[in-house]
Amino acid sequence: MSTGFSPERILIEAGAEGLPMTQRILARLPDVPVETLHAVGPWVRRMRRKADLAQVAKKWLVISQYRGAFLKKCPGTQGFVCCNYWVVNAATGCPLDCTYCILQGYLGNNPMIRVFGNTDALFSQLASVFAANRRRNFRVGTGELTDSLALDGLTDLSRELVPFFAGHPNAQLELKTKTDQVGNLMDLTHRGRTVIGWSVNPPSVIASDEQGTAPLAARLCAAQRCCSAGYPVSFHFDPIVLEPGWEEAYREVVQQIFETVPARAIAWISLGGLRFSPELKPIMRRRFPESRLVCGELVPCPDGKLRYLRTLRVPAYRQMLGWIRELGPQVAVYLCMESRDVWEAVYHRPASRIRELAGLFG
Ligand code: SF4
Repeated sequence: MSTGFSPERILIEAGAEGLPMTQRILARLPDVPVETLHAVGPWVRRMRRKADLAQVAKKWLVISQYRGAFLKKCPGTQGFVCCNYWVVNAATGCPLDCTYCILQGYLGNNPMIRVFGNTDALFSQLASVFAANRRRNFRVGTGELTDSLALDGLTDLSRELVPFFAGHPNAQLELKTKTDQVGNLMDLTHRGRTVIGWSVNPPSVIASDEQGTAPLAARLCAAQRCCSAGYPVSFHFDPIVLEPGWEEAYREVVQQIFETVPARAIAWISLGGLRFSPELKPIMRRRFPESRLVCGELVPCPDGKLRYLRTLRVPAYRQMLGWIRELGPQVAVYLCMESRDVWEAVYHRPASRIRELAGLFG
């Protein structure tokens, strides 16, 4: 299987050399220079001399050990509807390069791609949290600070995560990606407890603003393979880009999804309009001067992020919801990072009273 991502340099934190994941990665990349990492600072200073720190940092892979709690509740935002999501950060940084990626402004002191090789600690932490809270349902994602599958050809993390979640009835994993790297998943025992998710956009947005990602057709083909292997799948229209002709382009994506996978295999679909923090705007402008996303009319919202005007977002969500409902009336559809009043304007009732979301948000 292709490893997908091939770094130019590997830095191994002192103490992580003997971990099975480290050995696996080194065996797969025998020609990549390897050095021991004692402190990140000097390496970052060296990188900062290059023109585009984010671009350079995406080519360096750090293998280290995470010493904190791997599992965290997605913090949510005051006044926004919480979708009851938990995140496991087993890696940070991403080899793909989307113009709107929040990580560009996020990982300032640690911009390289990092994988945490101490998976024994990860799994023992998860097992004890799930066992101590048997009445709670944990919906867990690994894609907060990375793409869930972009590094999987190197780390094989999915080969441990999926069978682990198969054995925990009060937890469900979502692996969210913009790749088509699902080869590792095909022969795993999953018992339906792992959902494989794709962020989707029309081909024009993928081509202009999602560098290094798989084309839409390849993502949908991968989704079909996962359905054939019995996995539930999910789709995230995120970020939705409202530009001339968006209706036709997004309706086409909705149609293609339902032509490719059966509606009953879709665990959920989310909708999230383009948004980013004001601090990200100059970074986007500098790194991607051609991108039209920074030219859209976005306004500051109560959480500090820039979004399209509510008067544009609400009708856009309603239209998307209508197209999805025509083809998959039972599919759970939720809004990502939206305020209560936007939810009510779209669904004509509060999120807590949307029947098909009860299992997700409860
Ligand atoms: S796939 Fe996700 S994490 Fe990776 S660059 Fe794009 S937005 Fe960022």
